[in-house]
Amino acid sequence: MATQGLIALEAAQEQMMQCMKCGNCQAVCPLYAETMHEGAVARGKIRLAVDVLEGKLAPSHELLDKFALCLTCKACEANCPCDVRCVDIILAARAALTEKVGLPLIKRSIYRGLKLRRMFNFGLKVGAQLQGLAMKRVDLGNQGKFRSLRLPLAGIDMRRVIPELATTPLRDLYDEFIPAYGGKAKRRVGFFTGCVMNLIYTDTGRAIIEVLRANDCDVIMPKEQHCCGAPVFIGGERAIGRDMARHNLDVFTAMDQKYHLDHIVFACGTCVTSFAESYKELLSDDPPYRAKAETLAAKSIDANALVVTIGGLAKKLAPIPRKVTYHDSCHLARSVHVTEPPRQILRSIPGVELIEMKDAARCCGGAGSFSLTHYPLSQQITSKKAENIAATGAETVTTGCPGCRMTIEDGLAQAGLRQDTVHPLALLQESYQKAGILKKS
Ligand code: SF4
Ligand code: SF4
Ligand code: SF4
Repeated sequence: MATQGLIALEAAQEQMMQCMKCGNCQAVCPLYAETMHEGAVARGKIRLAVDVLEGKLAPSHELLDKFALCLTCKACEANCPCDVRCVDIILAARAALTEKVGLPLIKRSIYRGLKLRRMFNFGLKVGAQLQGLAMKRVDLGNQGKFRSLRLPLAGIDMRRVIPELATTPLRDLYDEFIPAYGGKAKRRVGFFTGCVMNLIYTDTGRAIIEVLRANDCDVIMPKEQHCCGAPVFIGGERAIGRDMARHNLDVFTAMDQKYHLDHIVFACGTCVTSFAESYKELLSDDPPYRAKAETLAAKSIDANALVVTIGGLAKKLAPIPRKVTYHDSCHLARSVHVTEPPRQILRSIPGVELIEMKDAARCCGGAGSFSLTHYPLSQQITSKKAENIAATGAETVTTGCPGCRMTIEDGLAQAGLRQDTVHPLALLQESYQKAGILKKS
């Protein structure tokens, strides 16, 4: 019987045939820029994928490592004259090879652990209380709270600066149903928090909830939601990723039936891509779940885009005198094509001076677990992002993705820079508070 990975690889064959080997992808690949190695480029990986599919290359860990060398940033796709969906091919090859040779033990254990929602949440709650034992505080001279390891821990580089885990996760701060201010809601919005925002960046989650409530939205934040599964299915474990997708589809379908949601909102480029795109593809051979995925995909929207659409900027905003720059998350910009709404938000706040950085849409180097498994290479890319940020003279960096935020914070720390990093809606919340539209929390 054909396995999930092989089915995906066969489905990607047509895409492979569209590649005319022009090399346009090489010019924009951040990994090629660092390694000067054809194997890092989409063209090279597509060639390898063809050989895997035709049985000319035997599956091996070495081969799997070659496909692991990709940020899934989609810069290649954006520059491809043949519209080849390079990342679909690379992910299908990862999945097919993973099924054949298996992932290394640490990765496999992490992915399996991620699926166990209760254990995952409990473990991280305990971790939040005990983080001082394993990690020491690092003062970067800005408003963030950061730590670094005291002793070596598998998978995390000792140099890395990591934001603190929140003592109370976002989903424990509110009830499932969070009413609009003023009582009469015009919209009902489901909120997929993603795990990073739930466990670390609760400031972003609070900003989104409060800004939506001030714009006549009831917010519904289901307690049972779990990680979108992207690290798992991007990492090659398609079967576990499918189970995680089914779980979230069940949770939000139930919420939709109960509350008749107008939208499902996200503040993570990767999470929104999971709901808007990946779940449909992952479950294409499972009609009931494919139907759920399509229904929810049509309602899925990034938080910046939603706030702009519902008139969140048509209020008398209070000034925030600050120089700000914006980093585009790869998935937000190139998977769901959200680039203008966050900039509109920033430009609308009086006093905010938006200074564009060079290569704002170039990958920050994080790419989920890539920054764990390939830290030195990831850091080379992140250090360029930090240089571009420094050149703007901005005091605050904004980004629409918690994964990028974490990477950029580390990159700034490694470069000895002190900029704060926040979501654009945190600045809008601050402006609302100063204007008296929202109370200070
Ligand atoms: S840019 Fe597109 S067509 Fe050209 S080599 Fe890369 S993937 Fe192939
Ligand atoms: S997705 Fe990004 S890192 Fe991967 S091959 Fe394309 S440009 Fe290179
Ligand atoms: S994409 Fe990242 S932040 Fe979003 S749920 Fe998945 S792992 Fe968590």
